[in-house]
Amino acid sequence: MIGITATVPVEIIYAAGRRPVDLNNLFITSNRPSKLVSQAENAGFSPNICAWIKGIYSTVLNHGIKQVVAVTGGDCSNTIALAEILARSGVEIIPFEYPLNRDRDALMGQMEKLRKRLATTWTEISRVTLKLDRIRSRLKRLDELTYHENVVTGLENHLFLVRSSDFNGNPDRFEIELDRFLLSVEKRKPKKDGLRFGYLGVPPVFSGFYEFIESVGARVVFNEVQRQFSMPSGQKDMVEKYLEYTYPYDINGRLKDIEQAIRERRLNGLVHYTQTFCYRQLYDIILRENLPIPLLTLEGDRPGRIDSRTALRIETFVEMLGHER
Ligand code: SF4
Repeated sequence: MIGITATVPVEIIYAAGRRPVDLNNLFITSNRPSKLVSQAENAGFSPNICAWIKGIYSTVLNHGIKQVVAVTGGDCSNTIALAEILARSGVEIIPFEYPLNRDRDALMGQMEKLRKRLATTWTEISRVTLKLDRIRSRLKRLDELTYHENVVTGLENHLFLVRSSDFNGNPDRFEIELDRFLLSVEKRKPKKDGLRFGYLGVPPVFSGFYEFIESVGARVVFNEVQRQFSMPSGQKDMVEKYLEYTYPYDINGRLKDIEQAIRERRLNGLVHYTQTFCYRQLYDIILRENLPIPLLTLEGDRPGRIDSRTALRIETFVEMLGHER
């Protein structure tokens, strides 16, 4: 089992016969994620460090994970220090960096380093890529069933896409589960067309968000970053695929992707989720200035049910957009 702190070319890890585990998913789906945050704080992590970093730290130690691919470029600067702390606890750290300038050779160099470190071959990587791309094309179908046929909920869409960062550690099982799901939704009646929302930003730390949005008459039909985990560009070339992945680079790629979704998915509003103590909160300024439809900014701190203030703000936003329709 190799932990990954963010999305990386998992093709390489699977080709090496290893099992990648997205530490974010392992943390947030644990029985008591808030306990993991407290555990890290007891170990000395300050309250004003993001909950995901603390959750990842405790998850690695509690699961006895011995090797971690730490994304030290294009994700989160906190990961650099986190990796050093984990290394001192005996965890082997394999750094991976997305080049900020989207340089093809630099990204290729990072992939090659990872390949060598895990002792696999490009032939094996190509074989794995074929399989993963087949699953990704099914995820694309799931996404269409969300915004076009309107038979998949925002939460279901989120759950499948967010797990495509590591295919839940077992692509074969993931594929079977996905195929079963796709078959089961065929018979569903399309949802009535209420307000259509786009969810922007990192996945929410709180639970109950998607269910609450639906309970007040709106629906998420675009999960921006989670969809990116599924490498939706459809590029066959592996380097190009990870160059078109918008999350690690500057905001322009994200803006283009979101603008396209607004048009294609007929979005009425956007919810921008920001994580307390995260530098990515600053992107809210650019998103607000550049996107043509109303945007509600939410902030989440620790794991737990969606709080009443956030729920009220969502409700008010939905009411406001409902009146404007
Ligand atoms: S939410 Fe922000 S601060 Fe937290 S791990 Fe992600 S990028 Fe880093």
